[in-house]
Amino acid sequence: MFTDSHCHLAMPELSAQLPAIRQAMADAQVDRALCICTTMEEFPAVHALATTYDNFWATVGVHPDNEGVQEPSLDDLLEHAGQPRVVAIGETGLDYYGMEDRKGGRSIADLEWQRDRFRTHIRAARQSRKPLVIHTRSASDDTLAILREEGEDASATAAGGVFHCFTETDQVARAALDLGFYISFSGIVTFKNAQHLRDVAAFVPLDRLLIETDSPYLAPVPYRGKPNNPSYVPFVARQIAEVRGMPVEAVAAATSRNFERLFLKEMP
Ligand SMILES: [Zn+2]
Ligand SMILES: [Zn+2]
Repeated sequence: MFTDSHCHLAMPELSAQLPAIRQAMADAQVDRALCICTTMEEFPAVHALATTYDNFWATVGVHPDNEGVQEPSLDDLLEHAGQPRVVAIGETGLDYYGMEDRKGGRSIADLEWQRDRFRTHIRAARQSRKPLVIHTRSASDDTLAILREEGEDASATAAGGVFHCFTETDQVARAALDLGFYISFSGIVTFKNAQHLRDVAAFVPLDRLLIETDSPYLAPVPYRGKPNNPSYVPFVARQIAEVRGMPVEAVAAATSRNFERLFLKEMP
């Protein structure tokens, strides 16, 4: 019934508890999950989840925050994207958050390697005809500009994809929708201080909406601050249903259908 469109089940804190998590998912009617890759080194573990369990799928990509890891070439990404049950490229994008501390006082100009890496992922998505899973934080102007420069335009030849764990403004949401992308909300939408996000969740067209946990991070209320897992994605759906004034079952059904259309290429 519910689909978690973005989780990190290969990370040790979750993979060590996989049987319990799968049971919790079944109990919460979370039928399916997309396992997101963040380094090439991690890919085999992410892929193994998708080939072992028929309700898990995998992506391939290197997160913009990851430094000192293997830098994927276009051919690397294409080769991995061609493997069974790999349904998307990412997570990829730009992260300019915390230039002083997290980025060691570097400037945005110093992060050209992030933009190069992002372009490589977009090219791989367009060539493999698989959607992008986009992470953007404090970098929405450049994220949108690079997508456009690489040819993304909501046409039939575009890769498209999703802006995951959406935390940006309503203007960024509208720009992403104009480019043909889906918008995915995480547990952040349940946080007390996230009214602007609930406002965005209210206007995103129902056929462009996805839900996710981004577990093990960002557990929704009432588990905020605790380890997250895919069985909590119904809390995200319930919050969105509330702001849209519709039954949670309708949000569950629409986001599951959207997942099938975007990632599994099933119509409608
Ligand atoms: Zn992310
Ligand atoms: Zn993630």
